[in-house]
Amino acid sequence: MEKIGWNFKLDRLTLCFVSLGTTIILVNWGFAPHKELHAVAITALPPSIFSFFKSHQAELIRRATDADKRKHGVDDEAARHYIDLDHFNEGIEPCSWFEACEKFTEDTLKERGILPWNIELVYMNLVNEFAQDTLNTGQVIRLCADLGHYIADAHVPLHTSSNYNGQFSGQTGIHALWETHVYETLRSSWTPRKIEASYIKEVRKWVWTIIHESHQDVGEVLAKEMMVREMKDVPEDYGYRTRGRTLTLVPTPAFCEAYSSAMEGMVERRFFSAAQAISSIWYTAWADAGAPELPLKLKSQSDDTKNELVRFFQGLHKDHQEHDEVGQ
Ligand SMILES: [Zn+2]
Repeated sequence: MEKIGWNFKLDRLTLCFVSLGTTIILVNWGFAPHKELHAVAITALPPSIFSFFKSHQAELIRRATDADKRKHGVDDEAARHYIDLDHFNEGIEPCSWFEACEKFTEDTLKERGILPWNIELVYMNLVNEFAQDTLNTGQVIRLCADLGHYIADAHVPLHTSSNYNGQFSGQTGIHALWETHVYETLRSSWTPRKIEASYIKEVRKWVWTIIHESHQDVGEVLAKEMMVREMKDVPEDYGYRTRGRTLTLVPTPAFCEAYSSAMEGMVERRFFSAAQAISSIWYTAWADAGAPELPLKLKSQSDDTKNELVRFFQGLHKDHQEHDEVGQ
């Protein structure tokens, strides 16, 4: 389990200061939520492909954040994680990358973010990989991990807005508050729910629907944070947290709880919608490739991964315990 340090959002990066030096880590939904989303998505798959994904769950979970890590070294990677819908004054409908380039130019699109077209591209690459005569399992798992990551990002309202970190509204830090700190504080209190993958008939339309739904929530995400800040008995917003040797300034659990309850559980709803969507897009890619037979790992290999979920949740629980040490 990767340890989450302290998150202080700066532009599209999160700086993570470690007491023995300074490290910079890129984070979106947050590493733990991205990993758990993949873990939950596997449980929602139909029996026809469940065993294949289950036998590769360790790698799928481990690679859930590869796409964020690539922002360090790959040109254009950052633009694949968001779309600033508010910059499309003329509006934008579901369309192909080429249609969009014709209408807006490639440079403009890369400036505003290319999340929906990127999802479609990775999805098509995955269908193509599933359709190969000899399955390249490593490549399939890498694409599934990336596709799941981008689908998860599409469920985050602030990934669809140019005011992605509240920097234009005096709410700097709201990005990590919404997608990392509310999750870390409240995840253990969320009610488990049954989710199931379903076949997606029109992938392009479906992706754009998710993104538009996320965008509709942007106003509430910002307004409710402002509302909580202006409450008479507003909880302390930031406090220092100790995790091992790391001292971190993060939103306090009380503030996260007040914010989450003001949004009436929006983060929880978007989390489970994202898990279901990830599961559905994996299933649809496999079905669209002609539902090929998928090989399972040899027993000795799968033994190694069998307790991955248990280890993951133990790590998460440990983090939560340390989270309780937050002081002002
Ligand atoms: Zn991302």
